[in-house]
Amino acid sequence: MALLIQNGTVVTAESTTLADVLIDGTTIREVRSGIPPQGHEIVDATGLLVLPGGVDAHTHLDMPFGGTYSSDDFETGTRAAAIGGTTTIVDFAIQSRGTKMRTALDTWWGKAEGKACIDYGLHMIVTDLGSSGFEDMDSMVSEGVASFKLFMAYPGVLMVDDATIFRALRQTAKNGALVCMHAENGSVIDVLVQQALAEGKTAPIYHALTRPTVAEAEAVQRAIAMAEMAGAPVYIVHLSSEDALNQVREARDRGLPAFAETCPQYLLLSIEDQMPGKSFEDAKYVFTPPLREKKNQQKLWDGLKHDHLQVVSTDHCPFCFADQKALGKDDFTKIPNGGPGIENRMQLIYHHGVNAGRLTLNRFVEITASAPARIFGMYPQKGTIAPGSDADVVLWGPSAEHTISAATHHMRVDYSMFEGFKVRGNARQVYSRGELIVDRGEFLARPGRGQYLRRTPRGGAWK
Ligand SMILES: [Zn+2]
Repeated sequence: MALLIQNGTVVTAESTTLADVLIDGTTIREVRSGIPPQGHEIVDATGLLVLPGGVDAHTHLDMPFGGTYSSDDFETGTRAAAIGGTTTIVDFAIQSRGTKMRTALDTWWGKAEGKACIDYGLHMIVTDLGSSGFEDMDSMVSEGVASFKLFMAYPGVLMVDDATIFRALRQTAKNGALVCMHAENGSVIDVLVQQALAEGKTAPIYHALTRPTVAEAEAVQRAIAMAEMAGAPVYIVHLSSEDALNQVREARDRGLPAFAETCPQYLLLSIEDQMPGKSFEDAKYVFTPPLREKKNQQKLWDGLKHDHLQVVSTDHCPFCFADQKALGKDDFTKIPNGGPGIENRMQLIYHHGVNAGRLTLNRFVEITASAPARIFGMYPQKGTIAPGSDADVVLWGPSAEHTISAATHHMRVDYSMFEGFKVRGNARQVYSRGELIVDRGEFLARPGRGQYLRRTPRGGAWK
């Protein structure tokens, strides 16, 4: 029996319409008003928005970092995502130096096996192109890994040199994959970090103060220049500052296929508000790039509105405050970098974007679902409500009130970056491939039901 969602307001990146949605099995069969109800199971969506499930293109579940692992695994992390209205994630497999990317892919498939509650894709973090790196990249693309991430920061750990970045970009110009850049000048930052430590500046705030926005902007500019020389598109991850945004905007104004995402923490949190520099509590906000001065926030919102920024992801990478962040009690460089957010992205962007009048409803859908699906080669299977698309559908209560708190969230972490934030608008029912997986905050499905997504290179966001 097919499922008929009646009387809701269907919102896509392009349109807002009163329409019925007919779900047949795992996919959407029809979207129009007046679909005859006979023989279908009826869901009444009166007063609700019918949205495509959210797509979070940047998560780190069960990720090794500095001798520990991010505290959410594929089960707890994807369950929390689903409860918040996200039905697709793209996580990162990490190639270890001197090993094949295939080994990392197998490792991350293993992490997701039996655990993923929603569909997931994988990016591959490249740390070493070695002798067979190009074949390795091509073989990843044939496995549906349509994007690679390279680091211009974290020297000695993940950072690669410009030659490696340029070679990888040239390879993607041929195989159609997309390079994602962590853009910060890691060499300069390392000098500033060593100087701070030598001066006895070990508190968490120095993590932020040793990573200037110019170090981000310079790397963004260099990444885009290398992509231009390679004839390849490039995607800047977790862009955090006005200085960096200016580089992306200028490139896009010149017609280059440069893309960038930002994250809720950069839109809503700041050094002034979250890191007063008085206690180790600041470690809750140690992630990279760091929090910025408040004046950057409105610039990022403007960037989203005007399509200088295309996507909001979370960079979800939780570490418990009590026993993981504490590793850096006497040295900020030993604080695991990352913060939790996978559950709250849709609520926060809806409330502070749509309710606040900064974003239209359609733009909200675009930056949280359609654009990441398109850029990362999953569209129109994911990211929209249309005949033939996967039935990943969120029934969204636009007036539902919710207070974000670690006491009630579903992420496996002992604090919230958004503790006490009040939002209006929340996921009420969540369907993934036609299956009701969340009903009013309760997760109903079986872990392991989530499927690996084979993504298509040249996702269609650039010509
Ligand atoms: Zn990340």
